[in-house]
Amino acid sequence: MGKKTSCPRCGSKKIKILVPQTGIWTCQKCGYQGGIVIEDGNMEKQIKSAKKMENLSKKLIRGR
Ligand SMILES: [Zn+2]
Repeated sequence: MGKKTSCPRCGSKKIKILVPQTGIWTCQKCGYQGGIVIEDGNMEKQIKSAKKMENLSKKLIRGR
């Protein structure tokens, strides 16, 4: 135990499990709710890849 989790949207550690049965998390900072959280250790990597995906989809939209 003692694994820290972070919000995938803002990176805040003020994230709590909302419904343990479904594994839905909620962020107290940005209001994020979802089943995806970032576990301590590879947070930067995961945020980077999330941003990459975001940029990619922006490019795809702009490319038209
Ligand atoms: Zn957040």
